[in-house]
Amino acid sequence: MILLKCTGCGEYTLDEVHSCGQKAVSPKPAKYSPDDRYAKYRRIAKKRQGLL
Ligand SMILES: [Zn+2]
Repeated sequence: MILLKCTGCGEYTLDEVHSCGQKAVSPKPAKYSPDDRYAKYRRIAKKRQGLL
């Protein structure tokens, strides 16, 4: 069971289209930004280079 978040009112729903008429999306993928993830690895790599 996947809980979706309405893009209109922000309420959580199980339906892809909320009762308010707005589309509901999974709130989880939005938290994961590929840019942030790579930036984290870049920071770690830089740190390691600095320690060598
Ligand atoms: Zn809604």
